[in-house]
Amino acid sequence: MIKIGLEIHVQLNTKSKLFCGCAVNGNDEPNTRTCPVCLGYPGAKPVLNSKALEYAVKMAKVLGCKLNKKIFFSRKTYFYPDLAKNYQITQYEVPIGFNGKIKLKENDVTITRIHLEEDPGALVHPKGLQKSEFTLIDYNRSGIPLLEIVTEPEIQSAAQAREFMKKLKTFLGYLEIYSGGVVKADVNVSVRESGYVRAEVKNVTGFKEIEKTIEYEILRQRKELNEGMKLKQETRGWDAEKGITFLSRGKETEEDYGYIFDPDLCVYDIDENIKLPEMPDEKILRFVKKYHLDKEDAEVLASEKYLAEFFEMVAEEVDCKIAAKWIRRDLLSALAENNKTMTEIDHKKIIKLLNLFCSGKITDKVAKDILFLIVKKDVSPEEFVKKKGLEAVSDSSELERFAREAIGSNPKAVEDYKNGRHEALNFVVGYVMKKTSGKADPKKIPIEIRLKRSLVRSLILSTSFLAFGCKSLNL
Ligand SMILES: [Zn+2]
Repeated sequence: MIKIGLEIHVQLNTKSKLFCGCAVNGNDEPNTRTCPVCLGYPGAKPVLNSKALEYAVKMAKVLGCKLNKKIFFSRKTYFYPDLAKNYQITQYEVPIGFNGKIKLKENDVTITRIHLEEDPGALVHPKGLQKSEFTLIDYNRSGIPLLEIVTEPEIQSAAQAREFMKKLKTFLGYLEIYSGGVVKADVNVSVRESGYVRAEVKNVTGFKEIEKTIEYEILRQRKELNEGMKLKQETRGWDAEKGITFLSRGKETEEDYGYIFDPDLCVYDIDENIKLPEMPDEKILRFVKKYHLDKEDAEVLASEKYLAEFFEMVAEEVDCKIAAKWIRRDLLSALAENNKTMTEIDHKKIIKLLNLFCSGKITDKVAKDILFLIVKKDVSPEEFVKKKGLEAVSDSSELERFAREAIGSNPKAVEDYKNGRHEALNFVVGYVMKKTSGKADPKKIPIEIRLKRSLVRSLILSTSFLAFGCKSLNL
């Protein structure tokens, strides 16, 4: 048994910082998006960004947290050069939300608390941490709003942590409060064999790295226990290049930070009635009811807000089950293969393609190939089909001609067939398919052949194969 707890910091996608008007994104020239507030000048007064508060309250509601009616901010005091004020404005005593829950497949994970805080500046080591002779400081990051989400240590494996983070990302995406910026986490891991002695790994950046950290820590702790070592509660760092954790420093307790109420900011009321958009669970139910999708298809399509919207745009014009199948299966795998995202795809092209497929103008195989090219090269399906002559061969005279050729050029198979080897008839299908390069509907040919089987058989047996009329075969 393993216990994993996460403290995840998500960068919110507001336009300005948490307590001043400086832009969150834009000029990357160091120390250009700064002002007296985020540089900690004496006398500078912070003002709370109401958008950031709104985003945090929405997320707290989505996570089923209880909301505090009134909140305030506190100063977390420590000296470090990335922190110009010598304190970070955060929330300690009264978070925005507490006691929420994320439902996973096998168990639920309790959300201990969710609160807002400001990001410190960034320390830059030009030649890397070990070799640099000096350190630069960039305060562009100082004051960017972070949402901190803390869980109880109820996650039981790296795979579950992945599932948890995927859900979290889905919610953030639905609320449109996160645009793929930096996600950082403090990860605590403990195993039963040690009596759950926790190691906390600080500042792991990115969802993938968080997962790797967990996997590494479980292995390390079990290995050390197997070697007879006794584990101590400790704070560790993550070396992403080497893929290992390392002992960093003794762990401070929360008391060490000496939190005090920040008198520059007021007490804020929380709006419990804030409206939420349709969230994934509701969307799944609606998809099943409205479009008659399987629950699994609905779950995949609702896993990302834009994916769900894309599906609905296509389903307006195409049979919804076909739209669901093609988008979740073929389109998603083509996107993954080409390292592209849904937003790069023109939904109108997918509608055109699926309409060509539904009307029988192109086969399943051709449709798949074109879908791949839409993703890769943004081709126009109709023009592409026309230019390459990829319409499905439905003209029976052309099929007849190929069937006649097949018979003419495969005397051995015909002979075999005459001698009672019925499967030799399959050569006709094979040959015709080859000649039409996958354009003929493979389902259609065997059925027609089966229907005419007795006629073909009698013709081959009673006359020379060249003498019988392909017209009467009507393949
Ligand atoms: Zn500023």
